[in-house]
Amino acid sequence: MHQTKGPQKSFVIFLAFGLLFLMMFNALLPRLSAAQEVPYSEFLRMVKDGEVVEVQQNVDGNEISFLTKDENGKVGYYSAGVLTETDLSSLLQQYQTKSGEPIIFGRELPTENNPLTSFLFSWLLPSLMLFGFGFLLMRMMQKKMGGNALSFGKSNAKVYVQAQTGKTFADVAGQDEAKEALAEIVDFLHSPDKYRSVGATMPKGALLVGPPGTGKTLLAKAVAGEAGVPFFSIAGSEFVEMFVGMGAARVRDLFKQASEKAPCIVFIDEIDTIGKSRDGVGGMGGGNDEREQSLNQLLTEMDGFDGSKGVIILAATNRPETLDKALLRPGRFDRRIPVELPDLQGREAILKVHSKKIMLDENVDLTAIARATSGTSGAELANIVNEAALRAVKCNRRIVNQTDLEEAVEVIIAGYQRKGKVISPKEKRIVAYHEIGHALVAAMQTDSAPVTKITIIPRTSGALGYTMQVPETDTNLLSKEEALNKIATYTGGRAAEELVFGTFTSGASNDIEQATRLARSMVTRLGMSSEFDMMALETVTNQYLGGDASLTCSADTAARIDAEVLSIIKQAHEKAYNILKENEDKLHILATFLLERETITGDEFMQLLHQKNEPQQ
Ligand code: ADP
Ligand code: MG
Ligand code: ZN
Repeated sequence: MHQTKGPQKSFVIFLAFGLLFLMMFNALLPRLSAAQEVPYSEFLRMVKDGEVVEVQQNVDGNEISFLTKDENGKVGYYSAGVLTETDLSSLLQQYQTKSGEPIIFGRELPTENNPLTSFLFSWLLPSLMLFGFGFLLMRMMQKKMGGNALSFGKSNAKVYVQAQTGKTFADVAGQDEAKEALAEIVDFLHSPDKYRSVGATMPKGALLVGPPGTGKTLLAKAVAGEAGVPFFSIAGSEFVEMFVGMGAARVRDLFKQASEKAPCIVFIDEIDTIGKSRDGVGGMGGGNDEREQSLNQLLTEMDGFDGSKGVIILAATNRPETLDKALLRPGRFDRRIPVELPDLQGREAILKVHSKKIMLDENVDLTAIARATSGTSGAELANIVNEAALRAVKCNRRIVNQTDLEEAVEVIIAGYQRKGKVISPKEKRIVAYHEIGHALVAAMQTDSAPVTKITIIPRTSGALGYTMQVPETDTNLLSKEEALNKIATYTGGRAAEELVFGTFTSGASNDIEQATRLARSMVTRLGMSSEFDMMALETVTNQYLGGDASLTCSADTAARIDAEVLSIIKQAHEKAYNILKENEDKLHILATFLLERETITGDEFMQLLHQKNEPQQ
């Protein structure tokens, strides 16, 4: 048990200090209580002067201790010998204190002479105080260590109630299908009888699947907010403990708590951390006992509890394919709710939701921003709005305008502008031609998306310039021609360099990657090659996280795939080169203009392109 080491060590230190404290206390005690011994006559004088306020006589009657108080309020503590037969009680009654009160007299047991009281005061009381203090200290330490120091195996599930999640479906923009599916669950939690009377049972669990940042966690919170029931949330990683068995204990504890609070929602975020397939496919292979035990416990619990009670389990993941099949079996997470990247309308809606918090200029066009952000997630859009607000603040404005938003899009997509970066004029020229190459190839191909912005301002991401291409509308289907045009556009940068400078630079590395990826998927997955027809040659394993593909064909076929991919790219490259060659005059004009301005908009680009056309006709 390694984890106890910390607390144990501090406990030893604590004991050592405690002992020291007790010894010091006992050394001090007699001194503190030591009374100054005075003759009996002196006592009598003080009584007569009204200085004595309290007198105590010991059981033997041969000694007294007394408290005095002078005019200034100074307190004294004395003792004196006394004859046993003296009637102190009646003697003291004849006198008063200075303030005119009777002198208190008692026959108390002097501290030093009684073993019990002496033990009480010198050892027990300080010890109690010490332990009380120590206990508080330990509690504080525990809190700092995440409540883990002494209480093992307790779940870290936090109980959220309606007021605390504070989210409703109104906070989630777009995602209408997901909301609809979840609304059913909310309805069930509101009125379970409606479902019971028909004999329908709700699914025990629903799995939210989608890329990161699309609002899965947000949706789960919104469900709790809408349903107004307790919301237990725990991340899958919290189940994976340092010690084997702890994760399973956590799962058990979580479900115990949940069934006590039913109806309620249990939300397991990033469930793939424990739900990984046990056979190692898609996972890391090899055994992870702890994870496996947690998963087994989860499966058992999900089977064990009565769904009609109203405990609904929501889970989120962006790696559904790695999940254990047993989890997806009916009766467990049989409902699968896709939470996809937002489309054009979805993006606009998300931008609207998030820009409610800021003050927008009245002629801000959120649709244009939504168009320019194809492929971004809700989280990135939220980030863009925030970035725009930050930029407005930087410019000492309270209102966010279109330029702020546009710049924010670039920041999120391409990184911040790199202010200090020095680029030689020669390099700048190359970059300008490269970017115009992309834009021109894109614009000259009818099916290719028009360009909205070209810039040669370097970015922190390392890009020396870029061309922002924006599809007018969200298209879900990619035609073969569109795919080929896209590849040609990717090669346009390099083609321009070749055409103008007769040589080329490393500037096309990213283009090469993207062109290859697209060409490859055309051959292996989209059935867009002549040779392989509709044969699937690759399977995608990480659909939501970039999409790693793994080949499912023989080595011989793999070689042919490579050849086919190469031929597609070569053709596209040639096509791009030819387009640029045909329009070389425009290429020079546009590149010169870009060099001068550093950033040009799509409209300016188009204008220049057509301006040149007219005199020719
Ligand atoms: P996930 O769990 O899918 O990775 P989150 O739910 O954590 O993503 O989303 C992160 C943030 O992104 C949210 O807090 C929210 O600000 C924003 N966001 C994502 N999707 C949406 C959406 N559909 N509507 C509004 N905001 C969203
Ligand atoms: Mg999440
Ligand atoms: Zn490029």
